[in-house]
Amino acid sequence: MTKAKKIKKIAVFTSGGDAPGMNAAIRAVVRTAITYGAEVYGVLRGYDGMIYNDFVRLESHDVSNILQRGGTILKSARSMEFKTKEGRKKAYENLQEHEIEALVAIGGDGTFTGAQIFASEYNIPIIGIPGTIDNDLYGSDATIGYDTAMNTVVEAIDRLKDTADSHNRLFFVEVMGRDAGFIALNTGIATGAEGILIPEVETTVNDLKITLKTNLKKGKTSGIIIVAEGDDSGGAYEIARKVKEIDNTYNTRVTVLGHVQRGGAPSLADRLLASRLGFHAVEALFLGKNNLMVGIQNNKAVYVPLEKAIKENSEINPELLRLARVLSI
Ligand code: ATP
Repeated sequence: MTKAKKIKKIAVFTSGGDAPGMNAAIRAVVRTAITYGAEVYGVLRGYDGMIYNDFVRLESHDVSNILQRGGTILKSARSMEFKTKEGRKKAYENLQEHEIEALVAIGGDGTFTGAQIFASEYNIPIIGIPGTIDNDLYGSDATIGYDTAMNTVVEAIDRLKDTADSHNRLFFVEVMGRDAGFIALNTGIATGAEGILIPEVETTVNDLKITLKTNLKKGKTSGIIIVAEGDDSGGAYEIARKVKEIDNTYNTRVTVLGHVQRGGAPSLADRLLASRLGFHAVEALFLGKNNLMVGIQNNKAVYVPLEKAIKENSEINPELLRLARVLSI
């Protein structure tokens, strides 16, 4: 164990969209903190629970048997009140009342934006753990929930491919990713999709039409087009409609996978990632670190300033874009 700074009480919370693997991170935070001799509190419903004084003491047995469960035992919320100075003041007063000296925040960029503002107003160390299925944070090769969500998408598309093939249908499948096309690109390659539309790359409906016409000439009458929900040509319904307007040959169907992508038991990769991040987040606090996000890069734990994690973008890998094009001919 690393030489420790004395912290007697820490709190952990989950915030923003839930992601499979958050429970494994909570478990790791609780057990690592206990090993360091600290008491742990869970804050229910993210920043809302901090404002409404919803704290629960977490002992080691409280986090037994949750590693394999999706969602978050601490619940999550999108708190409008935390965006106000008064809300954050109430949150700080409640933390003081419970004598909490440090926080571990599990969430996405919104959660970290809130954490950063809070840390600039009040003197409380915060370490962030990237928990979001979108993988849209800079500084970690993956975020908690991303791998599981992609496996769920792949399973769903494999099923759709069976029916697409049997009925000669072209399926437009919408997957999550408001600002980032990581889920769409990776699952598109893994399922052999005929087209992948992501926010980072401009693809016009006309490009898609050309691809589909070429496919038709080769006798390919069924297929899968994956659309990230944030694509600028519109969602899957809109794109399917536009394609039909230009070319009525295809028998099209639309499937929006929606919240199905958030649930389910976390994959091995997410359990492992969440356990490592939870452990390193607590170690960071006991080493006196502050206002950082912990990530894993090239299989090593790293710390990135929260501001950088939020503001910089993880780049889409151009190799994967080329590969997707070559392999879908
Ligand atoms: P996901 O990526 O899964 O959506 P997220 O953490 O980005 O997760 P958000 O709903 O954007 O989810 O943010 C979570 C919470 O963080 C918000 O509900 C709000 O309470 C807080 N938050 C976001 N932005 C701010 C801000 N500018 N000031 C204070 N708090 C904020």
